[in-house]
Amino acid sequence: MTLSLPDLTKNQSLVFETLSQAEAPLSAYTILDQLRSEGFRAPLQVYRALDKLLEHGLIHRLESLNAFVACRHSHKHQGTTVFVICGRCGDVDELTDQVVNDQLMQRAVERDFTVESAMVELRGCCGSCSQ
Ligand SMILES: [Zn+2]
Ligand SMILES: [Zn+2]
Repeated sequence: MTLSLPDLTKNQSLVFETLSQAEAPLSAYTILDQLRSEGFRAPLQVYRALDKLLEHGLIHRLESLNAFVACRHSHKHQGTTVFVICGRCGDVDELTDQVVNDQLMQRAVERDFTVESAMVELRGCCGSCSQ
């Protein structure tokens, strides 16, 4: 991965690596289970690391699954993040769409609304599962 990582603590790096290698979104408890051999003991250790990684824009939280994924982009991105989530195999893809983002932000401005974060989750069936 060509990502230039901000200064991460050991715990943050471990959590980030776990998410980067995962094939599907992981819950905090799954991350904890995978990192017990690295000395993780309590959910709070995982949550603290996740909070920092979210702050750095290195990972995203999927609200509907209550799970986390590593960002697919090599640099911190802004605007609306669109997730495509397959309900059968659990595969998640991440897209950004400038047109969608601009339209959503425009609607917010019209309502005098300040957007702090924007995420769209598209749920359905991926190409390989629908074959
Ligand atoms: Zn991302
Ligand atoms: Zn699928």
